[in-house]
Amino acid sequence: MESCKEVWDEFFKRYYWEQILGLANQYPDTKSLWIEFGNLERFDMELARELLDFPDGVIRHATESLRGLDLPADTEITEAHVRIEHLPELTPIRDIRSTNINKLIAVTGLIRKATEVRPKVTNAAFKCARCGDITYLKQEEYVFDEPFECGNDACGRKGPFKLMPGESDFIDFQKIRIQDSPDEVRPGEQPQTLDASVVEDITGQVSPGDRVVIVGILRSYQRVTQQGKSTAFDLILETVSIEAEEKGFEEIEVTKEDEQKIKELSTDPDIYTKLIGSVAPSIYGYSEVKEAMTLQLFGGLPVANPDGLKIRGDIHVLLVGDPGVAKSQCLRYSRRLSPRGVFTSGKGSSAAGLTATAVKDNEFGGGRWTLEAGALVLADMGLACVDELDKMEVGDRSAMHEAMEQQTVTINKAGIHTTLKARCSVLGAANPKYGRFDKYDPVGKQINLPPTLLSRFDLIFIIRDEPNTAQDTAVSAHIFNTHIAGELALRRKYVKNSGITEEQVTEAMSTIKPVFDVEFLRKYIAYARRTSYPLIQPEARKMLNDFYLSLRKLGEDPDTPLPVTARQLEALIRCAQASARTRLSSQTTIEDARRVIRIVTVSLNQVIRDPQTGNLDSDLINTGMGKSQRDRLRIILEAVRSLQGGNGNSVPEDLLTQTLEKEGLKKEYILDAIAKLKTAGDLIEVSNNRFRVV
Ligand code: ADP
Ligand code: MG
Repeated sequence: MESCKEVWDEFFKRYYWEQILGLANQYPDTKSLWIEFGNLERFDMELARELLDFPDGVIRHATESLRGLDLPADTEITEAHVRIEHLPELTPIRDIRSTNINKLIAVTGLIRKATEVRPKVTNAAFKCARCGDITYLKQEEYVFDEPFECGNDACGRKGPFKLMPGESDFIDFQKIRIQDSPDEVRPGEQPQTLDASVVEDITGQVSPGDRVVIVGILRSYQRVTQQGKSTAFDLILETVSIEAEEKGFEEIEVTKEDEQKIKELSTDPDIYTKLIGSVAPSIYGYSEVKEAMTLQLFGGLPVANPDGLKIRGDIHVLLVGDPGVAKSQCLRYSRRLSPRGVFTSGKGSSAAGLTATAVKDNEFGGGRWTLEAGALVLADMGLACVDELDKMEVGDRSAMHEAMEQQTVTINKAGIHTTLKARCSVLGAANPKYGRFDKYDPVGKQINLPPTLLSRFDLIFIIRDEPNTAQDTAVSAHIFNTHIAGELALRRKYVKNSGITEEQVTEAMSTIKPVFDVEFLRKYIAYARRTSYPLIQPEARKMLNDFYLSLRKLGEDPDTPLPVTARQLEALIRCAQASARTRLSSQTTIEDARRVIRIVTVSLNQVIRDPQTGNLDSDLINTGMGKSQRDRLRIILEAVRSLQGGNGNSVPEDLLTQTLEKEGLKKEYILDAIAKLKTAGDLIEVSNNRFRVV
């Protein structure tokens, strides 16, 4: 049966009569009739096929039929639209080819950019300056057309013409750009993008970061450059329907057999070690870091309080370390394991940076304000791996605070007020302030990140690269094994009669082979996050509580700095929940508590133990300077002041160090502190090695 108005009349009456009455009732507040493709197939297979191949004509017939239906009580729906949804097939953005042009296709992806909704002229009225007549000109899609000559035959001159907005027709218009979801992009590949135009009642319904399915007609149009028309064509999807999808871990498919295997493994007493052993096996050592990465992948449980306040379940982990200690490698590995993992560098490869931006975009938005999603928004419901976090753009710093704790990104700029979702965990990597760690200085002070941001990380690990023969030998052996296994595999593959057996390769690979492969581990994690919601046992609760209170107690003595804040308690709870989830447990047990206390202690010891007093001092992350360090700087300033006496003579460095050494300070501390005071501007170097207090 061929598409024509009558066939559609029949279809609407049979399948959608009630919906159409509803639409008429609410018209013109709603203008769209949503049509299931499946219903059309059931009604007429051939018509459904025709719709896919020749959407222009078929949709025109459908629309004419809908608008002309004989409705009760004189209601008119003359501007209603048909919105086809749920096509049988999704076309990945990277598979779009010229054969798809002018066909109806469905694509899915994340919204990367969206312009604001603005009017666009569809039928422009031009007034001829010579005769005053008006010429109407339908506007083709993307380039503004002006009349060639006056429509008044008696005049027929070539203008000039003036656009008359009052007499022209406008529709709401929005342009959006979608890109492949991180899940569909293989590591190392750039996500592909596609632009789509959205008009009328379906504009303004989606935001950057949303996952959408768009059904539309693929158009190509000629690129126009300053040199004139080009032979290159650009693609744009003319949206017929758009639907935002709720994101979850459902996208990773877990079959019945997988589920069986996962459940079996979850009861294995060694499952925790096996899971950790599957995270970044090619990297030697770092057991606590890998443990933290594992817990992060499983995640804690988010809390939605009845008062509307939310507490995140996502665990944020930060690795700070000397160069070349495999930080970036760790990030890359986690990104592969997490559903919706995004890898980015703080240095900012895109204009949107880490969170989101609003810019006046000429190339994409034709000068309209455009909202673009950054890494944390694109990683919504996933993991954002941010390398070189210390080098992030200044503009990102303040937005990161909100993104990491409230898990939203708010944009208030140029009349755009909107909040985007950023429900992701952050795995960050950073170098110390001066490139390498100075072992005498508190670590907290050497991390080049604002203390307020630092305190949002649940676990921070310090990776130092200090020569240590035993360790170096082991790392070297491990790296050699990795390379030798690689060499054997390549030689067996490409060299004829290499004499290398499959067994030899497997044998060589065995040291670096993960217990579970990436594919299976992803399924295990997705399954756990979907199904495991443990309750904390009273003993576990007591243990975590006691540990937290004992840390707080250290701060009661007026001379010791305040050790830990309530943020660390939340971190403990989240990590314990994640630990229980690794075995799909219904309970967070005392074992989980013990495990988490061990990891948190390692992290705290590395980060907030003052290297001079040995005390835990969360001021080191919360203000960037520990108590004893502040004291030391003060002592040195005092010494300079008393040595320079009333007349303000400058003090030679030798004299200063000798005096202070007598008071029991180490020379390297003193020199280091002098340098710091100098940078801070508290101490002036009057001439070579002579100082004065400001
Ligand atoms: P970073 O980001 O910390 O500067 P990279 O992740 O770029 O360092 O790592 C540098 C290289 O050193 C990588 O090829 C990594 O595999 C190797 N490497 C460093 N430490 C280890 C280790 N402990 N085990 C295995 N390889 C390592
Ligand atoms: Mg690196």
